[in-house]
Amino acid sequence: MKILSVNAGSSSLKFTLIEMPAQEEIASGLFEKIGLDDSFYTIKYNGEKIRNDVALPDHATAVKELMNELIALNIISSFEEIEGVGHRLVHGGPDFKETVVLNDEVIAKLEENIDLAPLHNPGSITGMKAFMEVLPEVVQTVVFDTAFHSTMKETEYLYPVPYEWYEKYKVRKYGFHGTSHRFINKTISEYFERNDLKVISCHIGNGGSVTAINSGKVVDTSMGFTPLAGIMMGTRSGDVDASILEYMNKQTGASISELTNDLNKKSGLLGVSGVSSDSRDVEVAADEGNERAILAQEIYAQKIANYIAMYNNLLNGADVICLTAGVGENSKTMRKMIIDRINSLGVKIDEEKNDFRGEFRCISTDGSRIPVYVVPTNEELMIAIDTMELAKKN
Ligand code: ADP
Repeated sequence: MKILSVNAGSSSLKFTLIEMPAQEEIASGLFEKIGLDDSFYTIKYNGEKIRNDVALPDHATAVKELMNELIALNIISSFEEIEGVGHRLVHGGPDFKETVVLNDEVIAKLEENIDLAPLHNPGSITGMKAFMEVLPEVVQTVVFDTAFHSTMKETEYLYPVPYEWYEKYKVRKYGFHGTSHRFINKTISEYFERNDLKVISCHIGNGGSVTAINSGKVVDTSMGFTPLAGIMMGTRSGDVDASILEYMNKQTGASISELTNDLNKKSGLLGVSGVSSDSRDVEVAADEGNERAILAQEIYAQKIANYIAMYNNLLNGADVICLTAGVGENSKTMRKMIIDRINSLGVKIDEEKNDFRGEFRCISTDGSRIPVYVVPTNEELMIAIDTMELAKKN
């Protein structure tokens, strides 16, 4: 069966078409600048990349273009061949604890919670409505980045702030990257043939989060009410003292929303190094002796190491540490810097084993007290797996 895994934004729509259960990627692509004058799309198929500059006034037009292009390319012969569409949604709010079948009731509930993710959810919901319009007969699902974290207990998800903030305004830790952490946990649990593993999953890409998992259930995660919290990221600060906002507002006159934007977009690797948010650029600058780039790398690695140590304690000893996403999968420098900062846990990196990119591999020494694995993530595939399972039932 062919499943479409979809990630829609306010002006973009990303898709991967996957043959299931074979888990083979058939095609992928991106529709960009939807609703703007210079809209276009690119599709990768059979090792080739097609680009088409075409008017995309709204998401529904983009979905129709996509379906027609799949037929024109002989990838499908009719719309009916698509047996499921899985939509990624960043924020499910407190109500959604697992992947659900999309319907009008779900849309209404998502719209109720739009204030929790005003930047991300509206675009995704528009994408869902467009697919419902073009493919009304096909089973569609919503896969929430927050859902995997719904097993956290109050002791982990409540902030020690006035209780009404939680009761009246839903202020609590939600956690994100759940689809990736779930995929990592599934992959490593299948590898060890165990369902009782205690896993510390480190998703370190442009955004980043660390999650403590016990027997398939999240115990705690580093992101919070929003994806700003936790470890240092490409452009996000991670955890900072909230009083900085009022202080900087008084010092500079910048509004809370401008300052929050600075914490989201001008901080992290970019803010400290002054070079770039991309860890490759920061690595080059650090190798050339740029002191702020070196400092940015050191803070970045230390924050992740601190979370690993904290979660090792929370799990009462982890069985395995996994590194994933752009930096975790590809940067041997950053992997070494992180592991060198958790030597106190008896964890040691094997530099020879660490000398590679982008595949599943153990990178710790044989004597390391906790093994460390690089596990490439695949959120699109996780979405397709969920969607296939729900499509079979419906
Ligand atoms: P996103 O959070 O946007 O999905 P990714 O997981 O794709 O991000 O990670 C993107 C980041 O991965 C880039 O910003 C870059 O810092 C890092 N990265 C990718 N390849 C390498 C590499 N070869 N060496 C170091 N860092 C890399």
